[in-house]
Amino acid sequence: MATKYAMALLGLLPLSTLASAEEAPLNVVTTIGMIADVAQEVGGECVSVEAMMGPGVDPHLYQASASDVATLRGAEQIIYSGYSLEGQLGSVLENFSQRTPTLAVSPASIDPSSLITSQDVYGIDPHLWMDVSLWAQTLPALSETFSEARPACADTIEANTERYQAQLLALHEWVKTSIASIPEQQRVLVTAHDAFNYFGRAYGIEVEGIQGISTETETGIADIRSMADTVVEREIPAVFIESTINPRTIQAVIDAARQRDHDVAIGGELYSDAMGDTGTVDGTYMGMIYRNTQHIVDALGGTLAPLPDPLTDWADEWELAH
Ligand code: ZN
Repeated sequence: MATKYAMALLGLLPLSTLASAEEAPLNVVTTIGMIADVAQEVGGECVSVEAMMGPGVDPHLYQASASDVATLRGAEQIIYSGYSLEGQLGSVLENFSQRTPTLAVSPASIDPSSLITSQDVYGIDPHLWMDVSLWAQTLPALSETFSEARPACADTIEANTERYQAQLLALHEWVKTSIASIPEQQRVLVTAHDAFNYFGRAYGIEVEGIQGISTETETGIADIRSMADTVVEREIPAVFIESTINPRTIQAVIDAARQRDHDVAIGGELYSDAMGDTGTVDGTYMGMIYRNTQHIVDALGGTLAPLPDPLTDWADEWELAH
């Protein structure tokens, strides 16, 4: 580098070559897309982010492939969620922390008093992205990590963080208002697995998951029967399938309710543990939350609130009504 710098001073190399060599984007590898998207928003052009788990991938059951290991070897910064979300992959990532800077972003960022504990072996429910105000708490840790690795980018990263933070908090309020429009009796979210406890707590909707916190456990006949009881008794109009979960347990609940003369519809596919297709709004963190809210509100008889001002540019970019 010293030689290169001297050559640039002598006019033998353009200074711009020197700058770009020093400021190549930080190579970041994440597990779930919900971390990758937020990291990209915060880091902007100063980071290059790759998610190991694409659309439809269940993080609880994920096993690292040989090509994942190669991707991780090339990373300058690894970021995962933690709190057992990534199942067996967690120990692989722990090994990598000896050679590559590694951030378990949920334990590092999120106020422990906000965590929901679960009855199973996991202890803590890891689906923290479902409450936008909690997921927004990861921004300072990401911002700090990237600024330390790329000090020349610190101002840009700070500006990105402030802008994105404002959008997330506006989205949080919008979800809350929209969910509150659902008639109270029908404000119940029935899904295949318990991914929506944070969503329910933040936005005031009761949550019933057929399976436990992790998809590693089996669903029994008794679980399906008791869920069908709830659906019939509360006259719930719709239940939801998830993009990362086989829909057969939800179908079994629908069939059991129908045997008791209660017709219940599928209220659409919700994104629980992965985002939608890359290149669409559903393939972004904010879009995932927006789309889930839209499906829930439409199927349960509510009305979507107008998108607030901090989200109008975002809505225009993706051609969403506001
Ligand atoms: Zn899950």
